[in-house]
Formats: sequence, structure tokens, C-alpha cells
Amino acid sequence: MKVDFIIVGQGLAGTLLAHELFRQSKTFVVFNDPDQIKSSDVAAGLINPVVFRRMTKSWLVDDAFPQMETTYRKLEELLHEQLYFPGRMLKILSEDGLCFWKEKAFANQLEAYLDAEPNLNFKNTGTFNTFSFGCVNKSGRLDIQKLIFAFSRFLSQQNLITNEKFDCEKLDLQPDSIVYDNITARKIIFCEESAASQNPFFENLKFKHSKGEVLELKIPELNLEEIVSGEVFMMPIGNHHYKVGATYSWDELNFETTGSARAELLDKLKNITSTQSEVINQKAGIRPTMHDRKPVIGLLPDHPQIGIFNGLGSKGVLLGPFFAKQFVNFLIGESTLLHPEADIKRYFKRK
Ligand SMILES: Cc1cc2nc3c(=O)[nH]c(=O)nc-3n(C[C@H](O)[C@H](O)[C@H](O)COP(=O)(O)OP(=O)(O)OC[C@H]3O[C@@H](n4cnc5c(N)ncnc54)[C@H](O)[C@@H]3O)c2cc1C
Repeated sequence: MKVDFIIVGQGLAGTLLAHELFRQSKTFVVFNDPDQIKSSDVAAGLINPVVFRRMTKSWLVDDAFPQMETTYRKLEELLHEQLYFPGRMLKILSEDGLCFWKEKAFANQLEAYLDAEPNLNFKNTGTFNTFSFGCVNKSGRLDIQKLIFAFSRFLSQQNLITNEKFDCEKLDLQPDSIVYDNITARKIIFCEESAASQNPFFENLKFKHSKGEVLELKIPELNLEEIVSGEVFMMPIGNHHYKVGATYSWDELNFETTGSARAELLDKLKNITSTQSEVINQKAGIRPTMHDRKPVIGLLPDHPQIGIFNGLGSKGVLLGPFFAKQFVNFLIGESTLLHPEADIKRYFKRK
């Protein structure tokens, strides 16, 4: 079989890349290891266009946000599923926090994303320990798990996915192509998240993955429409269920859930609200992150048949569609542009 591309990994990155290639009528096959936990299975799917700590726009948000909306709407049409839930996020503000919010909203041109003036006229506001709320109007969530599942089903129907682990040892590099079992492809793109740290082709890259844990809670007495963000976020997912997250740790990079993360999240939640909750679920995953916290896309300088799309970190939902589109345009020769801060070339600078 001859194809244009092999894609390794069908988490969010592989899904978005495959979708763009499909839209460009390119041929491809996806390999996905069903035994590996995906960070996309764990992610809450939150979309936040603002960095609250500094009250600045999130990196590239003015370009990434419109592309994100376009891509997820197209995926909804293709898969006949509701996946993208735009909505508001309420930021819990202290008195000082409120001054900072108002000052920076104008100084950093954030008005397209949030209300500069505070607001306390939301349903349920009395439930929260807050001086005031800042309202981010352009927030929301992506149901990543539903997207991955529905896109996998779509790929299966088209015979475009093999649910098995890809073995790099069996990869045969030809001058202008690669051969794997009975498949010849022009290029192979690895979208394998933290597993890339063990991939011999990418030993030059500097990864700095982080572990994260998220809780799913049931809070019967709360019927929130908005996401609430304080020391942790509370994201309504329907039927009085909420995702609460997330922790960050860099020590033990594994997929085990821990009592300490659960206690940390519940303690931080108590600082926001005293409503009674029941823990329904807890998940742990690894955020695929590079040393400079920028994604990594591009082809290996010495082996341009081999590429990578990785490092989406904690902003995969927002940044993924923008970089998938840019990378596919590059791969099919429509453009030579890769964002310099994301380009894999940054790891191959000559000394
Ligand atoms: C706790 C937590 C909360 C998060 N919350 C958010 C959030 O609210 N918003 C947000 O935008 N982002 C969030 N993220 C980040 C988000 O999960 C990632 O940016 C995104 O899911 C990364 O997708 P990926 O495709 O790179 O990796 P993954 O989803 O891990 O997918 C990698 C895939 O590659 C496959 N694979 C690997 N090696 C092989 C191989 N050799 N052969 C075949 N298949 C292989 C794996 O099986 C897997 O399916 C969160 C992450 C965590 C851990």
C-alpha cells in the first residue's frame, strides 16, 4: 500500500493532523497504540484565552482562537457530534485582584475576550467565596474524549487506522520515503506525546513533561452554567457533574492517581466554595511539554521523511488546530512557514 503519510498516535494532535490531511484529500494511515493512556483521555478540555497570573493574552490567541472555532465546527459536521461548547468563565477576584484585572484589561487589550468591569449578577454567585468576579466571555470547553472516540470510529469506517503500537525498529528509511511492513509513505509524522522522549529520532529535543490530575465531582446542589476559576477550575459537564483541576508535578511522570493530588484539589475547592461534593472519578496523565513550553512541529533536518507534532502542553485545545493547519500547509507544499518558536529547527541550531 502507498500513502502520502503515516501518522503515529491518535490523541488530540494526531486527530487534528489527520483531519487536516483528510480535508486536503491526502492519503494517510494512522497507527494508535490502544494500550497506552492518552493525555487526551484525561484532559478537561478547558479553553482559556487569558493568562490570569499576568493578565495577558494567551500566546497566539488572536490567530489560534478563530482557527480553533473553525476546526471544531468542521469536526462536528463531519462526525455528527456536539464537541465544542463555547461559554463563559468566571474568575474569582480578591479586592487587589479586581484592581489588577481592571488595569490590565485595557493595558493588554483583553476586551475582545473579557469584560473589564466586574460583575456579581450571575446565578449561584452567593455560593462562592469571592469579593468579585471577572468574566471571560470567550471561554468554554471541548469534549476531547468524545472527539477522539468519534474520530477513531470515522477512521475505522474508512480503513484508515491500525490499532497497534508502531515499532520504530521496523522502520526502513529510503531516500525519499519510508517503508513499514507493507506500507510505503512519503513521510511519517509522530504525534505520540510523552512517548516521543524514548523515540531515537528525537533525542535532540528537550522535553519537560508534567504530570496532572483531574477530579470529576458530583455537586447536587449546584447547577452552574459558567466555568469558575480560582485556585482550581470547576467546569460543568452536565447533570450536576463538574471537572475540577488540575495539579502540576514534574517528579513522578506516571499515570497513577494519588491521594495527595485528590486532597490538594479538594482543599483548593473548599477555598472557593463550601458546597458538598462527591468524587466520581479521578484521572492522571502527562502533559506533553517542551523545555520552552512551545509546541514542536516540523521535519528532521537530516531525515525530512520524518516529522513530529507534539508539545501541546496544557493548551492543546486552543493551539492544536492552529498548528495542525500550519503544519499540513507546510507538508503539502502550500506554505514554507512554520512558526519559528514552534519549529523543530530550534533544536538543531548549529553551534
Ligand atoms: C490532567 C491534565 C489536564 C489537562 N487539561 C487540559 C485542558 O483543560 N485544556 C487543554 O487544552 N489541554 C489540557 N491538557 C493537555 C492536553 O491533554 C494535551 O495538550 C493533548 O491532549 C495532547 O494530545 P497528544 O495527541 O499530543 O497526546 P495524547 O493524547 O497522549 O496522544 C498520544 C497518542 O499516541 C499514541 N502512541 C504513542 N506512542 C505510540 C506508538 N509507538 N504507536 C502507536 N501509537 C502511539 C498513544 O497511544 C496516544 O493515543 C491536560 C492534560 C492533563 C494531563
